[in-house]
Amino acid sequence: MPVVLLIAILWFLPMAGLASDLLIHHANGYVDTQQRFTWMTISDGRVIEVGSGDAPTAEYSAVIDMQGRTVMPGLTDAHGHMLGLGQARARVDLVGSGSLEDALARVAKQASPGKGWVLGRGWNQVLWPEKKFPRATDLDKVMAGRPVWLRRIDGHAGWANTRALEIAGIDDTTPDPAGGRIVRDPDGKATGVFVDNAMALIEQNIARPGEDEIRYALEVAQKELSSLGITSVHDAGVDTATLAVYKDMADKGELTLRIYAMVSDAGENLDALGKPLIAYGDDRLTARTVKIYIDGALGSRGAALLSDYCDEPGNKGLVFSNQDQLDAMVMKALGMGFQVGIHAIGDLGNRMALDAFAKAQQGDSARYRNRIEHAQIVALEDIPRFAGLGVIAAMQPVHATSDKNMAADRVGEKRLAGGYAWRKFLDNGTVIAAGSDFPVENANPFHGIYAAVTRMDQNGEPPGGWYPGERMTLTEAVRAFTIDAAYAAFQENDLGELQPGKWADFIVLDRDLFAVDESELWQIQVEETWLAGVRVFVRQ
Ligand SMILES: [Zn+2]
Repeated sequence: MPVVLLIAILWFLPMAGLASDLLIHHANGYVDTQQRFTWMTISDGRVIEVGSGDAPTAEYSAVIDMQGRTVMPGLTDAHGHMLGLGQARARVDLVGSGSLEDALARVAKQASPGKGWVLGRGWNQVLWPEKKFPRATDLDKVMAGRPVWLRRIDGHAGWANTRALEIAGIDDTTPDPAGGRIVRDPDGKATGVFVDNAMALIEQNIARPGEDEIRYALEVAQKELSSLGITSVHDAGVDTATLAVYKDMADKGELTLRIYAMVSDAGENLDALGKPLIAYGDDRLTARTVKIYIDGALGSRGAALLSDYCDEPGNKGLVFSNQDQLDAMVMKALGMGFQVGIHAIGDLGNRMALDAFAKAQQGDSARYRNRIEHAQIVALEDIPRFAGLGVIAAMQPVHATSDKNMAADRVGEKRLAGGYAWRKFLDNGTVIAAGSDFPVENANPFHGIYAAVTRMDQNGEPPGGWYPGERMTLTEAVRAFTIDAAYAAFQENDLGELQPGKWADFIVLDRDLFAVDESELWQIQVEETWLAGVRVFVRQ
């Protein structure tokens, strides 16, 4: 190579590194929860420089004047269900139904056209005056000719009509499967409600969604999430079919948020995947986590407890596998280079998860960043084990404020000392990655930040907060939705803050979340969402 050319290349290299495509200025900007900025330069989708005062004069291909608006890092939902959210938009929506009659009216009105299955989600008998599980015969009154299957709000129980029972071949002699329960009358008659593993008796008769349905659902979901300021989602349970669609969307540049896929079913899906997929498609898609369920949910009394439910003596909930089986699944996944996220809600489920991690990690706590998804009810003596094992608590602040009355009924005051215990986790040095568990809950991360900071619902109930000692500070809550969520995905060097070198994933707000009264936090609106320096949402 001629010397002159070499010199020319060496001369231009650092220049090229400094050149920026985009200048954002006049911003009320937050690099993270502490450091401020007014201008930011961006190139190739990443932050080049941030600063305060006058922006450097240079040639930019675009200049955006924020006119003093608040700019902060994009938010991560560290536990949500993309396919579920998209499908929920196309299905009977029973969220918030106030009575059985209301639920039935919605089924009649919203049922998809055609002759096939009518699917829906979101009922919660706890919100109905009778507080009783509904029955197949109730559904028959509004929909008898077509099979109907409606999942409970927490996804851990389902409600079928008689036509669905016929198709599934369920009668009163059908035994409960392992880890599941067919709800029955005192005389043994199946009522139409199926808990946890028993749901498969119905669901195995419903055709799996095809590629087109999956793609449509994911597109609907990502659009909605972008409008809420979410730039990254930890998708908590992805099968191989969905992962294939994600890959295709990444290849075509169609992903407008970053997906951190947690592969469900440590058996077939894990073997099909073989090894982790990291930073695929311009860092839009990573699949390096295996999601394992050890128990169910509190609402349907499927969460595994160390002692009986307060409101159902004799019932301790359900575990989906025994300790040896769980240990083997964790060992296998870690051995293949995956992180493990165990869904654990009850104090027994959480203890089994911690025990499995303790055995598999063999004293190496820093390396694996294993996670417990939900960590809702934890025995007090087990809380310090999270930090000791380097286990991340992936928690959903809104669960505490929407579950509060139900949780008190299920486990009582004493066990609630370790319930939704964010402060105890944080004080022990546990990293909390926050999310919403959409579509179980509304995906709006500002609802989550508000719940984390106040422990109140949006009506300000209960005044002063539910177990207010567990409140997070605003800084902790924002970290849990940004940099700490990134840490839980091994992405803290690329996401979660607007430091030079990280992806320019940021949002523009209608007010400054660090300046508003905390009662207002849930009302914050996102005006714009940017991913890798490209605007993917603007409020009209
Ligand atoms: Zn979930």
